[in-house]
Amino acid sequence: MQLTNPVQTIKGVGPKKAKLLAKLGITSLRDLLTDYPRAYEDQSVQTPIANLVPGEQATFAGTIANVTEKRAGRRSMMILTALVGDGTGYVQVTWFNQPFLKQKLKAGRRVLVTGRPAFAYGGRGQLAVSQIHSYEFLDDGADGKDHLGILPVYAATDGLNQRFFRTAVRALLDAKPELPEVLPQDVIRAYHLLPRREAFTNIHFPEDAERLKAARRRLAFEELYLIQCGLLLLKKAAAEQQTGVRHLPCSRLSRTVLESLPFSLTAGQAAAWQDICRDMEQPAPMRRLVQGDVGSGKTVLALLALVKTVENGCQGALMAPTEILARQHYDAFTQQLATTDVRVGFLSGHLTPRERQTMHERIAAHDVDIVIGTHALLSDGVQFAKLGLVVTDEQHRFGVAQRSALEKRSDVTPDVLVMTATPIPRTMTLTVYGDLDVSQIKELPPGRQPIRTFVRTTDRRPLIYKYVRTQAEQGRQAYVVCPLIEAEGDSDLPSAEEVYDELRYGILRGIPVGLVHGRMKDAEKDAVMQAFYDNKVAVLVSTTVIEVGVNVPNATILVVEHADRFGLAQLHQLRGRIGRGTHASFCILVSDNKGEQAQQRLGILAATQDGFALAEEDLRLRGPGQFFGTHQHGLPDLKIADVLQDTDILLEARKAAQETLGRKENLSFVLPILSEAYKEQFEHITDT
Ligand code: ADP
Ligand code: MG
Repeated sequence: MQLTNPVQTIKGVGPKKAKLLAKLGITSLRDLLTDYPRAYEDQSVQTPIANLVPGEQATFAGTIANVTEKRAGRRSMMILTALVGDGTGYVQVTWFNQPFLKQKLKAGRRVLVTGRPAFAYGGRGQLAVSQIHSYEFLDDGADGKDHLGILPVYAATDGLNQRFFRTAVRALLDAKPELPEVLPQDVIRAYHLLPRREAFTNIHFPEDAERLKAARRRLAFEELYLIQCGLLLLKKAAAEQQTGVRHLPCSRLSRTVLESLPFSLTAGQAAAWQDICRDMEQPAPMRRLVQGDVGSGKTVLALLALVKTVENGCQGALMAPTEILARQHYDAFTQQLATTDVRVGFLSGHLTPRERQTMHERIAAHDVDIVIGTHALLSDGVQFAKLGLVVTDEQHRFGVAQRSALEKRSDVTPDVLVMTATPIPRTMTLTVYGDLDVSQIKELPPGRQPIRTFVRTTDRRPLIYKYVRTQAEQGRQAYVVCPLIEAEGDSDLPSAEEVYDELRYGILRGIPVGLVHGRMKDAEKDAVMQAFYDNKVAVLVSTTVIEVGVNVPNATILVVEHADRFGLAQLHQLRGRIGRGTHASFCILVSDNKGEQAQQRLGILAATQDGFALAEEDLRLRGPGQFFGTHQHGLPDLKIADVLQDTDILLEARKAAQETLGRKENLSFVLPILSEAYKEQFEHITDT
């Protein structure tokens, strides 16, 4: 039996169930097989009925004493109640709307039930179980201990309960589907991994806890190993490219720009700049990630690298994730390069078709040297005359796929520099950026005042905004961030529009207040941002559109309304908007949420400014899916490996992948498997 067969191939799955399964994304046998349990329950531990506790799920076995049938509700739903006893006591077990059970529930039969007991309605302390997690009829004489060990718990939905999943997966495994090995034999041996079939069997129906652990390790290893092979192959393919640009050591233009900076580079910046120069001067294309906390000064590295490529007669592109950020870079670069003859262009989807056309032509004719823009740089009409370097800023918003799309916009293979402020834990770096070399900037530029962070309840808002007013009167600026753009029906979340009106007509009357959010026209947005850069707007009320990159060193206050609505990493990014100048800065997180998790998260934020520590904490609290947004990184979702928990497995898998790349027979074994498993992600490297 082939795993590519539709789920209906197995016993017990008809068209109806198949339709429900499809809603969960399960259409093939492989999907079902890799629909891993999200938890397990240990049914080998049985509770005597007398010891059942209301509210606590338990497993018990007993004999049915009698069965009653009732009808209730408008649709006259059938309610079957069995009185089950085990010698220590009796408990009522109730099934709703399962008429087929009538034939099976007979006095004298033994059942094994897992469920959550509660006090029976009007039953004077009698326990009843209507939240049934699973049940099983036991054969005569069986105590239920023999065939019920650790049972899988699947993500069930309406119409597809645990029983269904267990039976279906069991049937699938019993049918012995073809499960060709996807790991080279010597990898399996060297890393002491379970054979594949045994792993699949034990991940669903573990023989014991140890076997379960081994099964998980094997499957997580397999998943991470294949991705690592893909990433390392990407890296190798780039290194072997003969069409890269070999930049010359820095000469006049680069040096002029470096010397014209109003500051000298920090040690971290200087080291990263050295890494970049070394890579750019190689014939193989650079693929480097610069990781540095918010405010560590990554933009200047982009500037220097772009100037270096221009100096070598090439064009450079800088891609930013938002219009505002692209604009900001464009303005800053134009200013920085005003005394040179470097031509800087801007491209975004919001230009008029005419403007866009003109820019496309100028790019193709090498009439601009540096193009700064948004995703629009990836659009079809863009063709560079000679693209020497691509820089992507705040890269976690661009995936592997977009990265290579931009690389294809020119005949030469450009160098790639990726900058991210989102501190990504090491395990995540290896999974998401496994094809890149990493430079880290660990320190902030000197003279920065630490940001003081406070958590305050809404009744303190008048005081908070009075303080904002005082600061504005002294020439400082402030951001006020709200979770919503406009008031939404029944939501009591503060919206930017409401807060904007509240402040400018109220406590901040006479102070220039601006509003910016994602639904405004670009021209309006630009005008407001420009006014804020020029300190013609003192207080900027916004949504998270200002989250990344915005750089106004004179801004010293950040107020976040309803702060518990934001993720930790996001709040840290927002906080990165202040503390960029020499004045003391304050971050005030407004929240009335007394929930433990909310308090814990805001407390952590107040206690540390270390973005790495915060990111790890955020990952731990919210899980990787939310941290990254599923598709932002362009890599396949992990089905079983956990980037936080499985560091050890990841490092082993990476090592194994490295070894594989060095062994011809292993590599040719893995290549077809890789291209089959991850077609989209690694297509271009596996078809060689
Ligand atoms: P990020 O890493 O968040 O992108 P930016 O590049 O926006 O940081 O830099 C933040 C601020 O620090 C900017 O105002 C920039 O001019 C300034 N800056 C960058 N490098 C230095 C330095 N070596 N010394 C002093 N200020 C610097
Ligand atoms: Mg930046």
